[in-house]
Amino acid sequence: MRIARVALDIPVHTLFDYRVSTYSVSIGQLVVVPFGTRRLVGIIFALGEASELGTGQLRDIQSRLPLDPLPAEILSLIRFASDYYRCPVGQAAFTALPASFRNARYAGPKADWIFSLPAGGQRALLESIPGRAFVMRRLVDVLTSAKQLTTREAHDVSPRAPAILAGWAKSGRIERRLSNVVAAVSNTSPQAVAAPILTPDQSLAVEEIDKTFGGFTCWLIEGVTGSGKTEVYFQLIARTLERRRQVLLMVPEINLTPQLEARFRARFDHRILVTLHSNLSATERARRWIAAASGDARVVLGTRLSIFTPLPDLGLIIVDEEHDASFKQQEGLRYSARDLALVRAKQLGIPAVLGSATPSLETFYNVQNNKFRHLRLTSRPAAQMPHVRLVDVRSAGAMGGLTPLAIQEIKVRLSRGEQSLIFLNRRGYAPVLVCAACAWTAGCSRCSARLVWHLRKPVLRCHYCGHEEPVPTACPACGDQDLQGLGQGTQRLEQTLAQHFPDARILRIDRDSTRSHQAWDGMRKKIHDNEIDILVGTQMLAKGHDFSQMTLVVIVNPDAALFSADFRASEKLLQQLMQVAGRAGRADLPGEVLVQTRFPTHPLYLALAAQDYPSFVTEMLEQRREAGFPPFVSQVLLRAEAVKPESVAEFLARAAREGAAFSQGVILYDPVPATMARIAGRHRAHLLVQSKSRSALQRFLDAWLPRLEQLKRRQVRWVLDVDPLDL
Ligand code: ADP
Ligand code: ZN
Ligand code: ZN
Repeated sequence: MRIARVALDIPVHTLFDYRVSTYSVSIGQLVVVPFGTRRLVGIIFALGEASELGTGQLRDIQSRLPLDPLPAEILSLIRFASDYYRCPVGQAAFTALPASFRNARYAGPKADWIFSLPAGGQRALLESIPGRAFVMRRLVDVLTSAKQLTTREAHDVSPRAPAILAGWAKSGRIERRLSNVVAAVSNTSPQAVAAPILTPDQSLAVEEIDKTFGGFTCWLIEGVTGSGKTEVYFQLIARTLERRRQVLLMVPEINLTPQLEARFRARFDHRILVTLHSNLSATERARRWIAAASGDARVVLGTRLSIFTPLPDLGLIIVDEEHDASFKQQEGLRYSARDLALVRAKQLGIPAVLGSATPSLETFYNVQNNKFRHLRLTSRPAAQMPHVRLVDVRSAGAMGGLTPLAIQEIKVRLSRGEQSLIFLNRRGYAPVLVCAACAWTAGCSRCSARLVWHLRKPVLRCHYCGHEEPVPTACPACGDQDLQGLGQGTQRLEQTLAQHFPDARILRIDRDSTRSHQAWDGMRKKIHDNEIDILVGTQMLAKGHDFSQMTLVVIVNPDAALFSADFRASEKLLQQLMQVAGRAGRADLPGEVLVQTRFPTHPLYLALAAQDYPSFVTEMLEQRREAGFPPFVSQVLLRAEAVKPESVAEFLARAAREGAAFSQGVILYDPVPATMARIAGRHRAHLLVQSKSRSALQRFLDAWLPRLEQLKRRQVRWVLDVDPLDL
């Protein structure tokens, strides 16, 4: 009797046995199985001849999904992720797959046909159509003038058109053939844009990495923004394609894909690329995934989820902006796509290339330990480095958030027709609403957070749980009417700018103003077409965007992060500010950066002014070593939350007691409240476990996790976060 061991998308750490009778199946196959009263899609992870449950209790596999089995390489990557991040294998697997495959009725990718009229076929076709069949006549017209139509294009003519065309094709009146999935994904035409001649740094990087093709090596390319990292990627991609291998190119955010995609399509045969990210419809994501898995797509450009895409000929993995926290998933399977990229490259024996202007401390540490090889791009081939000035707001004074110097410099840009970017990482009008009489401040009733005053639709809004309430007209505590907004948000800064520069075209870019992707696309176009003079925005603007007219960046009040309890805060701050500063002066126009701070002598700002990331990092690493923080130790966080604070405390105390019994080689810290101790009415706390040895930590988890699962938990939700990025 054949038995299939199937992973299901349920929170249990085991595989489920099913009988294989009717279907021939193989490992990796997606199958539909009965589970209780439901039908679920599962993945066959193993086949066997006997089950621990007697055969009498086993149920049959009901059907197969019309998909090729997942390759062994992907199954083992899923296994690894499931073991390492302590996520049940079925849940890990379905995180890795397009959502369509969770549907027991998934019918395979919709065939995309290309219909065409045979020579001279128009007359016969028209004659066969009833006189008043309006849609049919129009379809013939369109088909005649366009020569050919895809199923999708036909659908745009009329939703009935694909069925009509299929009917004609069946009766032989028109012709049809299956379109290549990838070609159908995009039909922009390739424009041949020539590759620039590489600088010596770039050539060296390409040649050195090229020598390691066919074996596992992890490379770090460290190069300031605009130093030509993307050009190096493109050359490496070209060489990988020549070797008939596929490439996976990962970026941290969806917003960064359109620009890179356009650049790629202008350089390569556009049909070989698919992009993958979470903002695609389920069907579209499944189509592109299949195009990659079938080998039709040769290059996948995607966000973190693309790490799990089957690529039968994968020859190179590139992770751009490797330091970015977005590579880490913060729910379910809490994986780091950057780290999994290395696991995958090692498994396949191929090179992995990490690129960044500001590599993570983890990566620098691996360079120091000779685990990674290091390449530097030291200059900008097409632009000068920006000039950074630190402006002391204590002496300069700031009106509505801007110093006189900033106002002056913006004025100069306006007169020259250049753009300015004002960076403030705070949405809304004012982050605090305070009563001048009694110092009451508006807080969220459900979170340990202050409410932010928003202007457009005047409300107080919680940025953690989304709660909104009207702006009070009098203080709820003392009745006084003198309520004031303290501090600066992007809306207030926008107002200040409008007062100073009534004729300037000002655009605010933050999560409030770019709720839809279309909005953001439109805004980006406006910036590129130089229809904007001054941009005000949050970190959304910091990353990767190339605005050629931008010659001034003003960074407003970045000081808060200097005093954060999070030991990663200064690393993140410097990375972010280097990124923002990198927006200035990309093309032939030199750029200037003003940092408005109260601490102009802080080493972090001095490093920024000198554009000297490496020495500050060396310093930070030394501090981490002394303090015993990552990357010198590995960490796991047991996160717990519940409505009642005592339930959380009790659960974590028990968890700590359970763990104490076998904690050799690891340190269990006392439970503490999370930085945001309450969100949406739930109290949050955590317990940190740490060790110098990754494997000791994993062994500890092997023993601890089964006991955690046995604990009484009284409405407590908990999760293990391996290699957490924030506490
Ligand atoms: P990064 O990815 O490091 O930010 P890019 O590869 O985007 O850098 O390069 C920045 C700009 O410099 C782009 O406009 C690019 O076309 C240009 N560039 C890159 N390499 C060269 C080169 N070797 N010669 C001329 N221009 C280059
Ligand atoms: Zn008051
Ligand atoms: Zn809230």
